[in-house]
Amino acid sequence: PGRLVCVGLGMMLGAHIGPRARSHIEQSDVVFAAVSDPLVELWLKQMHQEVHSLQPYYAVGKSRRQTYREMVDAMLVEVRAGKQVCGAFYGHPGVFAQVAHDAIAQARREGFLAHMEPGVSAEDCLYADLGIDPGRYGCQHYEASQFMFYRRRIDPAAYLVLWQIGIAGDRSCTRFATGPALRRLLVERLIEDYPAYHEVIVYEAATLPISEPRMERVKLRDLPDAQLHMHSTLVLPPAAMLQPDPDMLARIEAVERADM
Ligand code: SAM
Repeated sequence: PGRLVCVGLGMMLGAHIGPRARSHIEQSDVVFAAVSDPLVELWLKQMHQEVHSLQPYYAVGKSRRQTYREMVDAMLVEVRAGKQVCGAFYGHPGVFAQVAHDAIAQARREGFLAHMEPGVSAEDCLYADLGIDPGRYGCQHYEASQFMFYRRRIDPAAYLVLWQIGIAGDRSCTRFATGPALRRLLVERLIEDYPAYHEVIVYEAATLPISEPRMERVKLRDLPDAQLHMHSTLVLPPAAMLQPDPDMLARIEAVERADM
């Protein structure tokens, strides 16, 4: 019977792939590639002779939701045909990425074996390059558009990471960039919780061993005019001190006393 494995390739070409991901790629009957760079596709083709790119499903003016459905279908057709199918995704296949989760859920609903192999995500590279430990002050992650569409409770004593900042505010799900006007709205929202002159970081992990990560510091109020891409992530360092909770501390003290 067919089965599906979705694996992560990591962010940097050739440098982040794990042994399990590699062996799934090599041993599957067919490989589907959801990668952002044609070079990564060429690299995959060295590991397997039948690599189908999922990239052509993207199109300007086409809803990404439709694109994702078609990607899931393309993989499922092969699983139903009894093939061992591998979906190879850049980064981590299940981090801010719906297709692998959807495809695995669909395959399981139809009774096939399906699972995910994790990979090195943009998040992992960000922690390494920017020297951030998410456990130090805590770290909130949101998709930038979702962050704009819904009321969220921001804790400015923690890190805040906004994904897909380059298409923040795109309600149509069809665009590959949004402009300064929508970004100004995002900044207005952030200024409710952060000083306008707070220094934020536009982050782009290196995807080739010969390139450097982009770690550009800009003032929050200047963000609308910053250069942002599809592969940019925005990091807001903490802007406030951790607030002690005296009530909880007193209750803990009471427990400690009772334990003695
Ligand atoms: N699954 C991917 C991962 O594991 O990192 C994330 C896919 S998500 C659809 C795309 C978003 O990931 C981008 O908008 C950006 O926020 C982030 N991203 C992708 N490539 C990046 C890079 N080279 N550097 C920093 N962030 C990146």
